[in-house]
Amino acid sequence: MMIDYASLLKKSDLKATFQRISILKDIDTKGHSSIDDIYDEVVKVYPSLSLATVYKNIILMVEKSVLVEVPIVGKKSKYELIKDDHIHLICTQCEEVEDRPYNRNTDTIFNTISQEQNFQLEKQQINLYGICSVCQV
Ligand SMILES: [Zn+2]
Ligand SMILES: [Zn+2]
Repeated sequence: MMIDYASLLKKSDLKATFQRISILKDIDTKGHSSIDDIYDEVVKVYPSLSLATVYKNIILMVEKSVLVEVPIVGKKSKYELIKDDHIHLICTQCEEVEDRPYNRNTDTIFNTISQEQNFQLEKQQINLYGICSVCQV
C-alpha cells in the first residue's frame, strides 16, 4: 500500500516538508527504525541535514501522532508510522521488532481493566521482549 505522506502530515497540522516526507518514507520502508538509522538514510539525500533536525522532526511527529515511539529496553527507541493497534515482539539480541495483530483476547483484557479501574484508555502499546527464532539458533 502506497501511503500519501504529505496528506498524512497535513491531516496532523504539520507542513509537508521534503525532510519530513523522506523521514516517513524511510521509517515506512523499514517498519521500525531508530533515529540514528533514519538519519543515516536521510542524510544521503540531504547531506546538509543535521542529526538534531532529524531528532526534532521525529519528536514533533510523535507529538502529533504521525509516528509512534517503540521503546527498546536499554537501547535506543525505534519509531514507526501510526498503524492499527498491534503487539510488538522485540528481540533483545538483534533488536528486530515484529508486528503481530491484536486478537479478541487483547481487546477484552484492555476493556476489562479500564472498566474495572475506571480508567479512560486513550492509547496502549503491548511490547513483548525476548529472543526471536533466528537468534535462538
Ligand atoms: Zn533476534
Ligand atoms: Zn509496530
